[in-house]
Amino acid sequence: MKPSLPEYVPVNGKTYSLFGDSGSTSGYYEAIKILANRIVAINPLTPELMNNIKQFSSKKRNLKKCLKINDPDNKMSVILNLIDPILRRYTENVESHLKTLPLSKLWDFRLATTREQYHLYMLEIELTNRLYVGEFLKADRKIALMPYCLQDFSVSCKSAKNGFDYQCRHCSAGCFQNHASLILEAHKIEPYIWMGGNMKQLAKYTLHERRTFGVLGIACIPELTNGMRTCRKSNIPVIGIPLNANRCVRWFGEFFPNSIDPDELEKLLKA
Ligand code: SF4
Repeated sequence: MKPSLPEYVPVNGKTYSLFGDSGSTSGYYEAIKILANRIVAINPLTPELMNNIKQFSSKKRNLKKCLKINDPDNKMSVILNLIDPILRRYTENVESHLKTLPLSKLWDFRLATTREQYHLYMLEIELTNRLYVGEFLKADRKIALMPYCLQDFSVSCKSAKNGFDYQCRHCSAGCFQNHASLILEAHKIEPYIWMGGNMKQLAKYTLHERRTFGVLGIACIPELTNGMRTCRKSNIPVIGIPLNANRCVRWFGEFFPNSIDPDELEKLLKA
């Protein structure tokens, strides 16, 4: 049985928040869908497009230049100029974060993600979902990997190792991990709190048994994008939902409660 929805209040992240300056995340999801529709209207949605966006987003210095120049003959410049003005309202804290990031942490690609990269990652997540959701839903075995920062920090989490990794024991009705786990189970997806389970090995065993395998990821935007790329490279159908903000110890030095949009998770699984 699905518990009542945990309190859904705006959360602000170190660099981004899908609430923007509103009380809901529906504006973000409407915006990213409209932008993705516009982009696939001018570029066929293929693995090649995904690779183009991946390569383009890795050149952070060029991204700012591409924004300024706005070259109509450069496909990636066109895409960036289309998405950037709309998505900026969700990434307002990126520049102040980067200004205070110590040199010693610049090696961490997640912490050093630029504003333009965030916008391309948001698009990449939406396009990856469109490209792979059909294959994911048809997979014989489907797992979801959730971050432990989605748990309810006001209770002592009772999650425990079960099979591949940790699973929620449903101790708190106010926990997004609990709510997401129940939605996932209802769709025959095994929900795991990812604490170090070996995903590559699991994929290998499953495929060895001649069963197809799919992954659903939940993580902050840079982490989710990276995980989706790893799956795509290994030909594993992957879909995902970003955390509503980045609020874990990596970003703040301590944990703050976080959320995902459960309606968007349901919509994705009914696609
Ligand atoms: S509901 Fe699940 S994930 Fe949330 S605190 Fe309890 S056991 Fe942990």
